Amino acid sequence: MASGQEQLDYVAEVIASGRAEPSAYQFSYASPTHSWSAPLVAIPCIECGKRTARTLPYCPRCLGMVAHCRLGRTELRDARGERYAFLGLFAHDPSQPAGARVFAPEQLVLPYLGEVRDSVDWLTERYGQHTVPYGFKHGAAQRYTDSALIRGAGASINTATPALRNNLVFRDAEPLAAIVATEPIYNGDELLLDYGPYYKVDEPHVAFETSTRAANAVRSGGAPGFRRPTNRGGTAWVPPLPPLR
Ligand SMILES: [Zn+2]
Repeated sequence: MASGQEQLDYVAEVIASGRAEPSAYQFSYASPTHSWSAPLVAIPCIECGKRTARTLPYCPRCLGMVAHCRLGRTELRDARGERYAFLGLFAHDPSQPAGARVFAPEQLVLPYLGEVRDSVDWLTERYGQHTVPYGFKHGAAQRYTDSALIRGAGASINTATPALRNNLVFRDAEPLAAIVATEPIYNGDELLLDYGPYYKVDEPHVAFETSTRAANAVRSGGAPGFRRPTNRGGTAWVPPLPPLR
């Protein structure tokens, strides 16, 4: 697996060379003050060159072969016991049988890849004072990662309530945060990450979704599981394809 620095350098090089392009997946965000949609950035997979957008810097197949993770429907359930419709990330080593140990305690699972900048202004411009759904604040003063549009594989990891069920934590590592196992994780287990004390889970009136239908769903009144803000005011804004730090 490429190191965090190598992943960041690779994505920056792809963007600088003009080989990044908009994907078919749309990220949509809505809060009382900010509302916008933009396509996820698609790049060639760092391993095989196949175009990919949701599990950067790998395509889904190389993510399994190299980083031993797989995107799939989450196993988390709501208060009524219904399984949520959104995606999650699972331990997945195709060379090992089901139930084999894939990650040991303290092992690096993934770097947290996304846009990294040494300022908070660009996040305030995107989200106002509301939740940055795929944001991470580094320990270093004023350094932030946002994986909303440059969607690193680690950004698809959900958090569990109660937090006791989480099997991963963030570790601040330069230039990218690291996602590290806190217990043995077995082939097929869902990866569940403690987002930390500053993350606002289920903030009222904040909605976000990634799908090929998200933009239409927002316009037509919402897809299942997509909560619309009650306040329809705010700005419509599509962020440009961003530079990396
Ligand atoms: Zn690949």
